[in-house]
Amino acid sequence: METIHDTFDREHLWHPYTSTIDPLPTYRVDSAQGVRIRLADGRELIDGMSSWWCMIHGYNNPRINRAAISQIGKMSHVMFGGLTHTPAIELGKMLLKVAPPSMHNIFYADSGSVAVEVAMKMAVQASISRYGDHGRTNFVTIRSGYHGDTWNAMSVCDPVTGMHGAFGSALPIRFFAPAPRIKPWEEWDRSDFEPLEQIVRQHHKELAALILEPMVQGAGGMRFYHPEYLREARRLCDRYGIYLIFDEIATGFWRTGRFFACEHAGVEPDIMCIGKGLTAGYLTMSAVLTTAEVADTISRGEAGVMMHGPTFMANPLACAIAVESLRMLNEQDMASRIAHIESEIRRLIAPASAVPGVKETRVFGAIGVIEMEEPVNLAEFQRRCTDRGIWVRPFGRNVYVMPPYVISDEDLETLVTQTIECIR
Ligand code: PMP
Repeated sequence: METIHDTFDREHLWHPYTSTIDPLPTYRVDSAQGVRIRLADGRELIDGMSSWWCMIHGYNNPRINRAAISQIGKMSHVMFGGLTHTPAIELGKMLLKVAPPSMHNIFYADSGSVAVEVAMKMAVQASISRYGDHGRTNFVTIRSGYHGDTWNAMSVCDPVTGMHGAFGSALPIRFFAPAPRIKPWEEWDRSDFEPLEQIVRQHHKELAALILEPMVQGAGGMRFYHPEYLREARRLCDRYGIYLIFDEIATGFWRTGRFFACEHAGVEPDIMCIGKGLTAGYLTMSAVLTTAEVADTISRGEAGVMMHGPTFMANPLACAIAVESLRMLNEQDMASRIAHIESEIRRLIAPASAVPGVKETRVFGAIGVIEMEEPVNLAEFQRRCTDRGIWVRPFGRNVYVMPPYVISDEDLETLVTQTIECIR
């Protein structure tokens, strides 16, 4: 059995963003435990990615396993049309306790991208109902964003580094302001916000909503920006009567040191997407939360209902897992936990600044980024990582770590120092 380059996998299985003619190497995983991924050849890797940021309590977690098994014994799934169940209700109650206070209605969806689709559909339906005007259906956002791979989610991703190049005129045309420049720890300068303000002032009659990843632009560039930008965004949306959507899919569930990143700014959205950490990396599920005002405006509109309803909506197994994961988060002092990870990453990552080819290092919450001058050779970098017992998957010029919250200080030290060695 081959650990790397399995012939069937290479010839028949499509991996994310991969060529079939010249696929990148893939490593076969047999099992995973805590923060360790075990390869088929017996090597163990410390996971620096939380499996694309979702595996917050680590792999094979005994409590979540028990919750899953217990729910499977009752029912893995049942349709949500006309039926409801305790896991969905319990999860909903728990989410409303931790969400911004104005959140009132919850729509369970399948994945992060679908949550973004649902959020955008909500904004359009609510806008049409609110103004009786089919013209206010477009969106404004900022450059360097990432919101997912489905059609409308793609349309609000960065138009250059995102997928607009590949899909061209097939994508709806959105309004883009430059990416914010001022970092959370720098002095606020209002000129950072003015280009967005200008677009909204000029085009608000065409807009349903502004969509943003609060504080952290993730897959679009691992950029951190100032909370005042979000406060300005809230004021702007209120002034011009457009909705504010926060995509908290990557930032939610404590990744940035608060339960939701919007808490850094003390700002509430009208519509909010959550995913990834919601089910602690066990199953795909997301949710869209919104205010009673938005929900009721949709319900008073032409359609009279929210026009979405996927097969696996509110999947009971995923809900039961999410309930247990939330309990675990609520039992711990997560603010201190993340503050500790943050200060450790900051200390450990500092020497990277002196390594040739490194442009900048930056840390926010449990996220550490080493931005390179040039794009990273992914295949070569990953070979070095696996040789050194870590799992880190850079994109573009960004080498970053986003470890599971359960990582020990010792493993975190190995992860960050070995990441720097791979860069060297
Ligand atoms: N929004 C953000 C901010 C994300 O980071 C991601 C995933 N990286 C998505 C949406 C899409 O989520 P999914 O991959 O679950 O569709």
